[in-house]
Amino acid sequence: MRKRKPKLVTQYKCDHCGTTTSSFVTTHKYQHFCRIQTPGFPADKDCMADYFGTKYI
Ligand SMILES: [Zn+2]
Repeated sequence: MRKRKPKLVTQYKCDHCGTTTSSFVTTHKYQHFCRIQTPGFPADKDCMADYFGTKYI
């Protein structure tokens, strides 16, 4: 989904897949990973889990 008017949205480049996203999680090592999830549903995309394996799920 794209927003027409750019607002001040914090975006980071995913350390796993390289996508720049505003839907991300940050680790304690200041790494950023995409995490796209609708509450109540499994994550659509969870690069942190992919990066570290499945131990964070
Ligand atoms: Zn990613």
